[in-house]
Amino acid sequence: MATAPTTHDGPLCAATTCHRGLRAHELDAGQLLCTPCIHLIATWLHAELPRQITVLEGSLQRETTGVSTGGRTVHRTAPLPGRPDVLNLLGPAAWSDAVRDPYGQAHADQHGPLPIAGVLIPWVRLITDERRWNPPAALAPQALADWLARPALLDWASRRPWAGAMRDELHELIRTIRAVTRLRPQRRPIPQPCPRCDSLTLVETDHQLYVDCTTCESMYTREELALAARITAASLDAGAA
Ligand SMILES: [Zn+2]
Ligand SMILES: [Zn+2]
Repeated sequence: MATAPTTHDGPLCAATTCHRGLRAHELDAGQLLCTPCIHLIATWLHAELPRQITVLEGSLQRETTGVSTGGRTVHRTAPLPGRPDVLNLLGPAAWSDAVRDPYGQAHADQHGPLPIAGVLIPWVRLITDERRWNPPAALAPQALADWLARPALLDWASRRPWAGAMRDELHELIRTIRAVTRLRPQRRPIPQPCPRCDSLTLVETDHQLYVDCTTCESMYTREELALAARITAASLDAGAA
């Protein structure tokens, strides 16, 4: 996959899971992360995560004898075995634990996934430290995610040296959650070859602005795909003439 030819000579998006070349306007803006990746982060945190958390909470409620107190469920008994991943994901994380240091490593060694809050807090904390911004009032997973997904924040974050690492880590988080809930955004095939690798594996996904190729992981806007289709048609015409 690393040997796949690229038609783009300039720098690539900083995310290891994105192979998109940075466009001129993205480079001019000082972005290290491509605009589709910025939209993707917002989609994960703002559109998809609320649904995923609802499913996680629902599965806990079914399996525990909980007492509901105004929307918050107090768990009195351990959940049934087999779902420790759900408990881990929804588990609390402390602001002070969130330094990216060996103490964090100890968390990673525990069984099962890190809490959602435990993945998000280090990024929130890094950004509040760098920008001197106030952190979100609550450290619940969705409050943290909404704080991170604000357009102005993501726009700024895309120009920071850690932008690629943040995108990769959030991608891993959403993949982990999907594996536990088995809830994945609906995907539909697009009947057009990928402009980069020519495979017929373009798909559009719920909530996402961009179409992506499941073979080479390139991402395209609707306009880019329309342009590619016109170029293909024009070259076919030229070949026939
Ligand atoms: Zn990207
Ligand atoms: Zn492709």
